[in-house]
Formats: sequence, structure tokens, C-alpha cells
Amino acid sequence: MSKVAMGARELALETLDSVKTTPTSLIKFQSNGRVIVFGDDEAINLCANFSEPLRVTRVSMSGSRQSADPGEAIALKKRQIKIEGHLGKFTVRLVDADDITETLQADIILDLNPQPLIKMEILPPGYLHESATGANSKTLENQLLEMTGEFEKPKYFKYDASICAHGVNGKTVCTRCIDACPAGAIGSLIEKIEVDPYLCQGGGACATACPSGAIQYVYPRLADSGNRVRKMLQAFRQQGGKQAIVMFHAETEFPQELLQQHASILPVRVEEVASVGMDLCLSTLVYGASQVVLLSNDEIPKLSLTELERQLEWLQTVLGSLGLEPQQISLQAISAEFTELKPGINVEPAIYTMPENKRHAIFQAVDHLYQQLDQPQELVDLPQGAPFGTATINESTCTLCMACVGACPGKALQDGSNREVPEIFFIESNCIQCGACTQTCPESAITISPRMIFDRERRNRSRPLNKDIPFACISCGKLFAPTSVITKITDQLKDHYMFNSTRAMDRLKMCEDCRVVDIVQDPEAMTGNFDPLN
Ligand code: SF4
Ligand code: SF4
Repeated sequence: MSKVAMGARELALETLDSVKTTPTSLIKFQSNGRVIVFGDDEAINLCANFSEPLRVTRVSMSGSRQSADPGEAIALKKRQIKIEGHLGKFTVRLVDADDITETLQADIILDLNPQPLIKMEILPPGYLHESATGANSKTLENQLLEMTGEFEKPKYFKYDASICAHGVNGKTVCTRCIDACPAGAIGSLIEKIEVDPYLCQGGGACATACPSGAIQYVYPRLADSGNRVRKMLQAFRQQGGKQAIVMFHAETEFPQELLQQHASILPVRVEEVASVGMDLCLSTLVYGASQVVLLSNDEIPKLSLTELERQLEWLQTVLGSLGLEPQQISLQAISAEFTELKPGINVEPAIYTMPENKRHAIFQAVDHLYQQLDQPQELVDLPQGAPFGTATINESTCTLCMACVGACPGKALQDGSNREVPEIFFIESNCIQCGACTQTCPESAITISPRMIFDRERRNRSRPLNKDIPFACISCGKLFAPTSVITKITDQLKDHYMFNSTRAMDRLKMCEDCRVVDIVQDPEAMTGNFDPLN
């Protein structure tokens, strides 16, 4: 390996470390040593004589006694166990078949069952699951003692409910962050989500999955991460470094074999690999990396891995259609071996400042790549679940009721400024493919499909999706409703017995005022006709 190459990497990594990031707030825990231990009789008895400040309540999964004596174990006795909370604030409910509940409080849970009682890939802070087989009383006691006292951890996320697509008009629309969280830290509040900062352990898959950027990872922020990488790559090039391979990893020790084999590998340590979204991957590529690799290890929760793979699928489709090698951004299991890709097309490195918003970051990177291509294709269809795409409206069934416009959290669907002419406009760059519009439309007239338009002007343009002409009252001439609504109502009611006269049918084509006057003047209407428009 040449000295120039090694020097370039050294300087690049020094630059990376020197770039300051915005601090985030801290979440505090206070644990006073109250422990509830679950397990069979033999296992829980390992904890019978722990010393202060540990105060242990033992719950026997197998025992039959149920005693008020605090020195004795509580028997589960076929009761259901419900555990909520986190270090310093656990609530355990033992619920019997008659719904009679015994409630216990604890700072720490010690679970000595073969499988943890909580079915989460990441257990809450303060929840220790240990196999009872071969467990040692002293070791367990020391582990619990380490969990007493005051602790703090970063608040990893920021949430903006105003652009969240979780709930629209009482309907659940987007649950991507909830589904991607391996810690079960995100819940629904019907119209928005709620992240429990105590349960959140910074996995970051929520922000990677979020189509709108409503939930953001802030440890560090996207803009800080992007700017660190940009400056690192600039320093690398200035020192003669070429074909940089940026590897995002969460290892304490990066494999030395890899560094020795490839002078162009620039390891970037992150808190969690799943927090590296497609925004940062793509930006890293346009900032001058020839390859971007997300290095996974056995500790990444399966949910997070699945989310990364799902996101990479659409990103690699975008890369391929821009003439790049899709594998220039990839997810790989960490190992001592690594195969470099052959150099691809030459992309002039970007120097712009990293945007704060994930969608802006992706579009800016796409624009940078698109400008450099000779004969690029205009757009690409993306796999289902991609957060970009189009919407179309079936004009023959759409009544221009504007329900979709009101439901659209991305402001992709908008109504026209001319109130006299009902019209729906669409801005494709704003569409996050959440499906709120399709769920809301009473006529099932709108469909969405994932794709990306590469031309910025076309992507940002407001284009009409459907337009009606206003209907003029046949009596006074006032414009009062979309023509499509009047056509639909007259069609639906033409065979109704209450509209078998021409006069009754004509009333459907009148504004509200004229309709009332006509009903009063029509002796037939006064004997029981009804007004379908009211
Ligand atoms: S828009 Fe983002 S924050 Fe809102 S529910 Fe969907 S993934 Fe979660
Ligand atoms: S147009 Fe439909 S899919 Fe697109 S953001 Fe608006 S509601 Fe969601």
C-alpha cells in the first residue's frame, strides 16, 4: 500500500473527527435497586440473598405458593404477565382469568426464563434477560448492581407531527416507523405517533423508513453527518486519495485486515448502521465516494436489516437507471474480505452543503448525478414501498369532492386558486406515496404508483390531475357545483319515483336558493318530495 494512499486516509479520518456535530438533549434514568426476578424456583432462588441496595421480589413461574410474606416468592399461578416501562420505572401486572390484577413496581427486571417474557428484538433499558442455565448468583448480583444509580443517554430522534402521515381523518395511514422499530418504542396516538424516549435506544430504522422526514435521527443530525463525510472526502482527494470506499459501521474496532488490504477504505463509525438512511448513502456517493457500504453485523436487529434492504431496493433501482452500478451502494456483512467494484462512470464530486431534510438531500443528490449524464432517462418506476411517486385520477369517477386534497399530508395534492372551477393539482416531488388519498377517496378514483422523475423542473411542477367546469343554475345562472356532481346525481335519481316529473329533475340543476323557491311553488313537491342536494 502506498504512503500517499495511507496519508490520504489518515488525513481524511482526522478531518472527519474534527467536524463538530450539534449536540442533542439527554434522557435521564434513576434506578434505586428494586428488582423483580422471573424464572422457575431454582433460578429465582439464585437471587434470594442479594445485598442492599438491591431489593428483590421473586416471581416463580412454576411455584404454587402465593404468599404475602415478602421473603417468599410470588407464584404466577396461571396469571398473565404484563410488563411496561424501563429502567427505574417498570410496572408489572399479574392478571388472573377474572381480571384481578396484582401490580408490582420495579427499577430493574431480571428475566431468567429460557425466552424473554417481552417479545421485542431490543429489550427495554433495565430489562436483563439471562439464561438460568449455568447462571452464577454473584455474577447476576454484580450485573444488577451496575444497573443501579443515575444514568443518562442521548435523545436520538426529533419528530415533526405536521408532516407525519400516520393518521389522517381518523384513519391509520402510515405505520412504517412503528413497524421498523425493534424496541417497540413507537406507538400510535391516532393522528400522530409518539416515541417513548426512554425505550428508544437509537436504532434509527424509524428515520430510515420514514417517507416524509417527520421522524429524524439526531445523533448526529443528517446535515452534520453529510457535511462530515463531504469534508472527509474532500480531504482524501486533496491528499491524492482515489476511488474512496466509505464504509459505515458500528464496530468498536474496525477490522485491520480490511484497512491493510485497501488504502481507499474510509471507515465511518456510526451509532447504529440502520440509522444511515438512503439520504446519507446517496449524498456520500455524490460527495465523491466510488462505493458506499453499510456493514452489518450479528447485532443488527432483523427488523432493522429488513428495513435497510427495503430502502436499498429502490435506491439501487435509481442508481441503475442513472447509469451507475447499483451495487455502488450496498449492505454487506462485515468480514475480513472485501471485493472492490471496478471503477464506474466518473462523477464530478459535489461540494454543496448537506440539506437538513431527507427528501431534499435525496433530490439534490439525484439532480447532481442527473446533470452529469449524457442521455439520461427521464424517470424510473420504483418498487412498491418507495417514498416517491405519482398519482392519477380517473376523471369519469372523480367528483372533485377534494377529500384527497384535505387528506394529503405531503401537500402533493392541492386545489386550484380559482374557487369557481374545481381543480386538483399535483406536485410529484411532494408525494410520499403514503396512500392517504387512496384511502380517503369515496369513489376509489385515485391511484398512486412509485417512481422518480429525474428532471427537477418536471418533478417540482404543479400539474392538473382533474378539473371540472362549474355548473350554472338553470334558473338564476349562478355557478354552484361541479358539473360532475350534478351529472352524477341526476343519473342516480333519474329512475327514482320522486323524480319522475321533469320539474323535479330540473330542480336538481338549480342552486340552493332557487331550489327552495321552486319546491314552495310546486304543489307536487309540497306533498312529500325531498331535496337530495341537502
Ligand atoms: S410519516 Fe414518518 S413519522 Fe409519520 S408514521 Fe410514517 S414513518 Fe412514522
Ligand atoms: S398524493 Fe396521496 S400518496 Fe401522495 S402524499 Fe398525497 S396522500 Fe400521500
